[in-house]
Formats: sequence, structure tokens, C-alpha cells
Amino acid sequence: MIDLKDVRKSFGKNEVLKGINLHIDKGEVVVIIGPSGSGKSTVLRTMNYLEEPTSGQVIVDGMDLSDKNKLNEVRTEVGMVFQNFNLFPHMTVLENLTLAQINVRKTDKKAANDIAMKLLERVGLSDKANVYPDSLSGGQKQRVAIARALAMKPKVMLFDEPTSALDPEMVREVLDVMKSLADEGMTMVIVTHEMGFAKEVADRVLFVDGGLILEDGSPSQVFDAPTSDRTKLFLSKIL
Ligand code: ADP
Ligand code: MG
Repeated sequence: MIDLKDVRKSFGKNEVLKGINLHIDKGEVVVIIGPSGSGKSTVLRTMNYLEEPTSGQVIVDGMDLSDKNKLNEVRTEVGMVFQNFNLFPHMTVLENLTLAQINVRKTDKKAANDIAMKLLERVGLSDKANVYPDSLSGGQKQRVAIARALAMKPKVMLFDEPTSALDPEMVREVLDVMKSLADEGMTMVIVTHEMGFAKEVADRVLFVDGGLILEDGSPSQVFDAPTSDRTKLFLSKIL
């Protein structure tokens, strides 16, 4: 579903990705961990070309993202959820969920509303369709953001620290929605510090440091038998 081939990314003279090679199968759930500033978000953002690599190749669902003709199509297939929700504040929850369906997918309004309402039900927020994001808790906002991404019927979902901005009591409700997606076979790439979630849900865990993947294995391989000293040091600080 996703292939990164020797992906490098520099911001000015700062090379933040130093050759990322990664193959993610359909249905895999991959969790990316690593220190702050190590390049986790940048790796994730290359997977929909929010960051264009300086060199190397990104292929999603068989399409090379450097092909400008394919980029818009690929982007509709790759949903993304951010730490800070990025909901449109001047639109209701329902409008947040229907906007791209109507404008990008060209779904008619009635069908878009139906899809939106089903997804709100799924994330437990049917009663919030007509409110504005301001009136929601962080956990509710993030569930709306996930529903909005799902409304595009993506083949891949990318999550960049989806629970980092939440009060602790709201983390679980968001992780539960993500777990149900994983159980249904969604291909997911998740940057998170929630190690319990990683152990429970991930097929694979990647440890990224200094713009390189230093560890790539099952949760038990990475957490219980890490190979690099930097992984051991990182885990000793957070576990
Ligand atoms: P992480 O998500 O692991 O914390 P990032 O991928 O956000 O790390 O950032 C990796 C490095 O790239 C950091 O040094 C960061 O300052 C730098 N960086 C990220 N985005 C930009 C940008 N748009 N412009 C300049 N530097 C950036
Ligand atoms: Mg980040």
C-alpha cells in the first residue's frame, strides 16, 4: 500500500530524513515512535506529499506521488489526522464532514449527509452534528476529525500524535475509535507516544531517530529486544 524508497528530505541545510526505506502492506498497522525532532512527522507527511521529498520515491496504492496528475487522486485516498484536529471552526460538525465529499468527491449533498451521519454515529457523536467545533471537548473534536477523514473513504489513514493534545481522560475514547478501525483492516500509520496502544494494536513498530529508521519489528521485538543503543535509551526514558 505504501512504499518509501530512499526518501530524503532537507529543510535548507538541515537534512531531516536521511534515507527512509519502508514497505507497508495493505491492512498493516504501523506505529512510529522516536524522540522529538527525529523526523516522525516529516516521514508521515511525505506519505501524502504534504512534504515533498528532496530525493527518493513515495508510492501509495501503486501511484508515484511525484506524478502531479496522480497527486490529487492519491490525496483523496490518504486520510490524515493531526494533533490539533484542524477542524474548520466556522462550520458545523456536519459541514466539516461533508465539505470535501461534496467539493472533492462530487458526492451529492443528501448522500454526503448520510455518510456523515453514519460516521458520526460510529464515533459516538450523532447528537453533535449541528454544533460548532468550539463547543466540543478535545476528545470529541478528534473523533470528529477522524470521522471527517473517513468520509472520504480513504485506503490509508495517517495519524500524527492524535492524542498528544488531549486531557488524559479523553485519550481512551480516541484510541478506541482507532482500534476499531485497525480491527476492520484499515491500513494505518500512527505517530504516537502511547506505548500501551502500540503494543495492543500495532503489527509493526518503527523507531525513528536522526532521520533514519533504527528499528523495525513487531511490538515485542522493538519493546522487549531492541537492537540499537539509542532505542534502548529512548525506551528507558519513556517506559
Ligand atoms: P518529529 O515529528 O519527530 O518531532 P519533525 O519531522 O517534525 O520531527 O521534524 C524533524 C526536523 O525537521 C526538526 O529539526 C524540525 O525542526 C525540522 N522541520 C520540520 N518541518 C520543518 C519545516 N517546515 N521547515 C524547517 N524545518 C522543519
Ligand atoms: Mg511530530
